[in-house]
Amino acid sequence: MGATDQSRRVALPSSPELPPHGWSTHETLERLEALRVTDVRWKEGRAFSLAYQASPEAHDLATEAYRRFSGENALNVEAFPSLRAMQTDVLAIAGRWLGAPDTARGFLTSGGTESILMAMKAARDQFRRDKTHPNVVLPTSAHAAFHKAGAYFDVELRCVPVCSETWRVDGSAMARASDANTIMFVASAPQYPQGVVDPVADIAALALERGVNCHVDACMGGVTLPYLERLGVALPKWNFAIEGVTSMSVDLHKFGYTAKGASVIMYRNAALRSHQGFVTDNWLGGVYGSSGVLGTKSGGPIAAAWAVLHHLGDDGYLRLVRSARETALSIAAAIRADSRLVLRAEPDATLLSFGSATPDLDIYAVADGLAVRGWYVDRQAPPPSIHLTVNAIHAETHQQFLTDLAVTLDAVGNSSGTLGSYGTLE
Ligand SMILES: *Cc1c(COP(=O)(O)O)cnc(C)c1O
Repeated sequence: MGATDQSRRVALPSSPELPPHGWSTHETLERLEALRVTDVRWKEGRAFSLAYQASPEAHDLATEAYRRFSGENALNVEAFPSLRAMQTDVLAIAGRWLGAPDTARGFLTSGGTESILMAMKAARDQFRRDKTHPNVVLPTSAHAAFHKAGAYFDVELRCVPVCSETWRVDGSAMARASDANTIMFVASAPQYPQGVVDPVADIAALALERGVNCHVDACMGGVTLPYLERLGVALPKWNFAIEGVTSMSVDLHKFGYTAKGASVIMYRNAALRSHQGFVTDNWLGGVYGSSGVLGTKSGGPIAAAWAVLHHLGDDGYLRLVRSARETALSIAAAIRADSRLVLRAEPDATLLSFGSATPDLDIYAVADGLAVRGWYVDRQAPPPSIHLTVNAIHAETHQQFLTDLAVTLDAVGNSSGTLGSYGTLE
């Protein structure tokens, strides 16, 4: 992948020089557009990862709302009451999706990673006095952001393997991995790699019994699961309706279909949330407080989230979730029907993954073949798999995807590919 990236970069008309005379708006925008010619065509439903599209109209609205508030600064909502009002509305809407009680208090973050960082930081500070070498117990399927949080905040992570058939963790194994220094248990709804919902009730019961926190990572499912329930999909309990759940994360910039930079961290009550904030007056600038990781924080993502939520509305999300779900099930059925492939799990929501059913077929070579045909899929391991995050846009493109997948499988032979990396260090 590195070589391709390198050659692409050279071919692009980028410009490392500060122009002696500034470019006109027109020229600058032309050059910006030229830079993106080799980008993944996500608005055309070609990416099964990284980007989400409800409709051109919703995207344009998000962009316009973002543009209007891009310069406002959510570091201080006293100065920008508009941002406070929008954040309050968005948190209330997300709270209802998550079954949050009236006591719940949240914060709009820049993404799932920041939401998870904040849950981990809050738990660490909450138990700081009694638990000097804190640990968090989580399934191996939990998102990499928990590992990042552990590394940032010096919290030990105890990973419990998931069952290789169901991809779910066993509550009693989580119990065995915990001890007196455990500050938090983690469950995902759904977990990213195979798209299944963890036994949240078992994990939360354990946390309740130990008097510690339980974070449910609903970065993916926080928007989709409430609508899937309304559509009659049988799901285990997954949200604040379970007593032991103390905090939850949901990404608005995924299935909320809003602009990048919007996620919610929600706590069961204000006391839990109080450990998230940071205040100092130990500098020459007076009292400085902030709730999240960022200092200066654009109003753009907040305005875009507020706009898109209200524009799509309850019926819009119901329609979009139904569409993504039907598409995911149709792709899952096609994979199940192909003897060369193995579907890792029946999708609980709209995420799925599949691997090779035979030793001669390298699933990453399949991903390469798909890339040549203009499709961007996730590569994951273990076990070596392709992952698809199916969203509303794929209703229009999945038939072509399945056709190209079949063509790729016929053509791939015994060539090999590589895992690559979800994110990059650049
Ligand atoms: C995407 C995701 C995250 C991380 O969110 P970012 O917005 O990428 O920071 C965490 N958990 C799950 C389950 C996710 O899908």
